[in-house]
Amino acid sequence: MDVAVAPGRAGRVVRQRGWALGVWLAGVSCLLALVLPVGSPASVMVFRLSSLVAVLVFLWAVIRMPPGARGVWWGLWVFQVLTVAGDVVYDIYVYHLQQDPFPSMADVLYLASYLAVIAALALLVHRRQSGRGRETWIDTAVMTVAAACVVATVVVMPMLTDSSESGATILIALAYPMLDIVVLSVLIRLLVGVEKLNPALVLLTVAIACTLTADLVFNSLAAQGVVDETPAWVDVLFLAAVLLLSAAVTARGASTITQPAAATHRTKARLVGLAVAALTAPTLLAFAVWSEVGSTARLLAVASIAVILLILWGALILMSMVEQQSALLADLARRDGLTGLPNRRTWDFELGRVAAQTSAQGAPLTVAILDLDHFKEYNDHHGHPAGDAMLIDCARAWHSHLNPPAMLARYGGEEFAVLLPGADLDDARVVLELLRTATPSDQTVSIGYALQEPEESISDTVDRADQALYRAKSKGRDCIVAYESALIPVSG
Ligand code: GH3
Ligand code: MG
Ligand code: MG
Repeated sequence: MDVAVAPGRAGRVVRQRGWALGVWLAGVSCLLALVLPVGSPASVMVFRLSSLVAVLVFLWAVIRMPPGARGVWWGLWVFQVLTVAGDVVYDIYVYHLQQDPFPSMADVLYLASYLAVIAALALLVHRRQSGRGRETWIDTAVMTVAAACVVATVVVMPMLTDSSESGATILIALAYPMLDIVVLSVLIRLLVGVEKLNPALVLLTVAIACTLTADLVFNSLAAQGVVDETPAWVDVLFLAAVLLLSAAVTARGASTITQPAAATHRTKARLVGLAVAALTAPTLLAFAVWSEVGSTARLLAVASIAVILLILWGALILMSMVEQQSALLADLARRDGLTGLPNRRTWDFELGRVAAQTSAQGAPLTVAILDLDHFKEYNDHHGHPAGDAMLIDCARAWHSHLNPPAMLARYGGEEFAVLLPGADLDDARVVLELLRTATPSDQTVSIGYALQEPEESISDTVDRADQALYRAKSKGRDCIVAYESALIPVSG
């Protein structure tokens, strides 16, 4: 049974403004946690109370959410609950039992929380972007390997060289950075495929980034055996993550977070991510060997950075060339090669789009078809190139008499089409008469036009305009005829 509850007035206010309030409260709580003495009853109280409120707010928000997105948020709630429970157990060991909290029951809760967040994010990726291309996975792999290099350098390697701990303890300690990498890779995969970030996704990303950053610092201190010297801001970052998760679940876009996202086009942002990833390993290498003055390793590290920067520069130039060319190709595909007017494909597309727009606005829409008179004779007499030049001249002359949103297109051969949004038959007649008289040289044109009737499909309107054109031809050419109307006499 669907347990979603329609929000009342208070619910709506909280839904619209709740996340901003949540971010504000998270900020105040974090500030308090930062200034209060570490481990003092007041500080512990701020941590516990704000976490409890966050967990309850989260629960309240998920229950009210429509079923589609609930699975992901339930997973994140379990992550939040297990993290908070882990913190409580950790504090009991430190402050009440005065025992070393590592390894302990707290680790079971913390490690279980990882499984929940990984499952939730993986489900989110699957729902939003199933079937996304191979390049998204490759980009994710590149950035994950770079992040793994950092974690390996500052956490894993120092841990492995510490021989004072037992094998099992080292294994538990290693599980944290390893799982951090998995969380990060799923997060990267999610962000690489996202075109537009909504507030819920931004807050979720920031929350997880807080956890991962705090974890990296904490684990690196633990690896050096100086976990007691963990600065207060690291604990505050863990708290911020818990609180921001509740802000995320109440933010705009939370209930639609699982809806499939459009394919991403943020190629520049992605290139920046790849650039940072590509430079990570050689930069770490440069730091590691910097003290070895005059060594080949130092030279090679610097050379690697220089080569990568040059390759990235080249890739950027290539990318902007491809972008320019695809814009050019798109433009060519829309235009007629001879006259430069919108072609038949563009006409068909615009016809549907404009018809939908005018019918939604209740505005009139008139369609006209223009056909040059005796154009075969013109070609036979003056030659095909002169016929081409005449088509270009006609297009130019008519186009100069039309203002947007009116549109002139080459319909095919020596036939053109005019779309007149907002014009009824009387308005259209004035404009079309202007076009007829503007036809260059001694060339004449016949024009048929029709007004879209209520409930009529736009292709039927075009058919009627075509029938009107045949009437114009049969009535002697060089005239304009509305469907079902009398022949409009041509002066001169
Ligand atoms: P009507 O007054 O009945 O329209 O006579 P028409 O000769 O214009 O009609 P028809 O459809 O028989 O001939 C159209 C001619 O338009 C045939 C073709 O040579 C010419 N035409 C079509 N496309 C082009 C083009 O791109 N360039 C040139 N030069 N002529 C074209
Ligand atoms: Mg024709
Ligand atoms: Mg013709």
